Amino acid sequence: MDKLTIEKAHKGLIKKEFSAIELAEFYLNKIKKENEKYNDFISITEDLALKQAKSVDDKLSRGEKIGDLEGIPMAIKDNILIDDCITTAGSKILENYGAVYDAAVIKKLRGLGVVFLGKTNLDEFAMGSSTENSAFGVVKNPVDVERVPGGSSGGSAAAVAADHCLGALGSDTGGSIRQPAAFCGVIGFKPSYGAVSRYGLIAMASSLDQIGPIAKNVLDAKLIFNSIKGKDKMDSTTLDINDKEKDYGVLKIGVPKEYFQEGISSEVKNIIEKEIKKFEKMGHEVKEVSLPSTEYALAVYYIIMPAEASANLARFDGIKYGKKGNSGENLIDFYSNVRAAGFGDEVRRRIMLGTYTLSAGYKEAYYKKAQAVRGLIKKELENVFKSVDILLTPTTPSTAFKIGEKEDPLSMYLSDIYTVTVNLAGLPAISVPCGRVDKLPVGLQIIGPQFKDNLVLSIAQSYEQLRNL
Ligand code: GLN
Repeated sequence: MDKLTIEKAHKGLIKKEFSAIELAEFYLNKIKKENEKYNDFISITEDLALKQAKSVDDKLSRGEKIGDLEGIPMAIKDNILIDDCITTAGSKILENYGAVYDAAVIKKLRGLGVVFLGKTNLDEFAMGSSTENSAFGVVKNPVDVERVPGGSSGGSAAAVAADHCLGALGSDTGGSIRQPAAFCGVIGFKPSYGAVSRYGLIAMASSLDQIGPIAKNVLDAKLIFNSIKGKDKMDSTTLDINDKEKDYGVLKIGVPKEYFQEGISSEVKNIIEKEIKKFEKMGHEVKEVSLPSTEYALAVYYIIMPAEASANLARFDGIKYGKKGNSGENLIDFYSNVRAAGFGDEVRRRIMLGTYTLSAGYKEAYYKKAQAVRGLIKKELENVFKSVDILLTPTTPSTAFKIGEKEDPLSMYLSDIYTVTVNLAGLPAISVPCGRVDKLPVGLQIIGPQFKDNLVLSIAQSYEQLRNL
């Protein structure tokens, strides 16, 4: 059962090469054996997985047809609620929090017969780019255990790369699906803002957050995305995307020059430039474009994201959510005791930053200005998409860095430089493995106009096929 994909596992189940229980047990055993090495899972939901697998086997033994994802073992980032399972968001403050309902995406996957293996490790409240900020320990990159898997969905990307599951869900606020996918050599897709319901995702920055798949190949990512997308009455920002997949023919492809300037490693740059040439060989038209506002994207992101996060995290006060602390003299003491004991450094840093940029007198100088620049960035991208169909960029400026290498927050923030713009503008984007530097994977990012998710997936799939030839 080694190295299966969702498609192959589905065929294996139908042909009775293995049962759904055998498939689930295969992955559960592997996780139990190797979790100590990679630390990709915070909890394993064995009873649930075996129960779900059994009902698929019952169906198969009755001779009934099963769907593409039925009996498929998946891993879920631990900031997405599964009813009756502990959901920590990688934080001590939620270490015993038992979810009381299914997130919208979980409800859909459960309905389709997916088997949930467990909850994957992440940077606390999804804040980070390396999964070193988890209260449950650092995740190791399966490609090289001395290196980070990226973040914040580092556990999900590592679980897919280590073959601990057939696919995973992550969340992406500023790159948290695409960057770890690039570092671990797997596929990571961030859908358009509004394509997938955020109901039941522990919110980080609500105008940026989006749930998406991490998978072994584009087809699997597509299968997962098509199963979780769609309008949901519990998230009023969602809608049904009506863009049907078709033969897109010859495409105009833009390569924004600002993504190849300072900060990028020369090896990554060479690989990306070489791979972009392949799109020309595929018959597409490739041209350089310019997105001058790109240089402001990271600064804008690191104002808007903490502002929203500081508001979202106010609910973890030990009364509504979060574990109880020392009672303290009064209510304010109580809150600060609970929050001081429950939140890690990075989360506290962002709550302070966000509260500051929203406070009277500073709101105009920071938050409002950042919102205005966000508008400009979005406009600039809308304009560029009048002359090109998609954009190609590196996903990250470097390959996976060493654990402990980036100690100051600013150098960590810089690793998000190529991913945050997409979230600010609500666009769909995918990271596809495109080569290696000293055995370490490099990711190519394909960005499309909002709601052209199918276009992005389709071009990613043809590029992947070309690479596999
Ligand atoms: N690395 C980015 C940050 O720390 C993105 C996080 C995310 O997408 N959840 O904010």
